[in-house]
Amino acid sequence: MFILSNRNLLLDAQKNNYAVPAFNIHNLETTKVVIEAADELRSPIILAATPATIKFSGANFLTNIMKTAAREVDIPLVYHLDHHENIDDIKKSILLGCRSVMIDASKLPYEENVKKVKEVVKFARRYDVSVEAELGKLVGQEDDLIIEKGESQLTDPNLAVDFVERTGIDSLAVAIGTAHGLYKKEPKIDYSRLEKIRKNIDIPLVLHGASDLPDRDVKKSIARGITKVNIATELKIAFSEGVKTYFAKKPDANDPRRYLKPGKEKMKELVKEKIILCGSKNKAEVLK
Ligand SMILES: [Zn+2]
Repeated sequence: MFILSNRNLLLDAQKNNYAVPAFNIHNLETTKVVIEAADELRSPIILAATPATIKFSGANFLTNIMKTAAREVDIPLVYHLDHHENIDDIKKSILLGCRSVMIDASKLPYEENVKKVKEVVKFARRYDVSVEAELGKLVGQEDDLIIEKGESQLTDPNLAVDFVERTGIDSLAVAIGTAHGLYKKEPKIDYSRLEKIRKNIDIPLVLHGASDLPDRDVKKSIARGITKVNIATELKIAFSEGVKTYFAKKPDANDPRRYLKPGKEKMKELVKEKIILCGSKNKAEVLK
């Protein structure tokens, strides 16, 4: 297949009460892990890259890895820009072939958030690119994006109506009590807020900070209308645990083809667990 936007995938997930998982990848190895796991479980898949990942791998290299990945497997594959704040970076990746973006202007005052998102939507429409934006602010750290506890802000269900209407976005990232990174204590998810948002607007809703979130909370969120679940930190941990275990046994190892393998295997197990948790297993035929 080709790289797709996430529009039709998320609308199907919304209609049928499951979520499409979005896994943050960093390079060829982690991309292959995700597509192999998704292909084996016949799940539609979103591969997400933050600005730091694009800086690390290169926009052109990464987009072409994704194009090749999409051709290698017969499942719907979305390459998605995660937490992008710079409009020029977004335009560059769209012109390279990316079809799904998140413009994160949630740190800005409301009117500026609206203005910036609208500009991205206008550009994205020309290329049939789906746009996700965030209202409210998640606490924690996502690569270079750090929000301290005092700055976090939950999504206002009434303002969400105005935001969606004025920006024309395809999906909305909500702040309902999850955080980026690992949880220091059990998170308290504001489910009544999520229900209000779901009632007020009809576009797909996105849950950020699903790493380390108890399975029952992920399931509850999906049951209440979340259609895209973002997972990043947990995958990094699984991959590095695999590599660390290998080096603990063989400290003199020096062949990346050997020492990366246990990292890939560990990460693949986790990707499969998350696909099953999201309910997207065997949903690959959704667009056929
Ligand atoms: Zn996020």
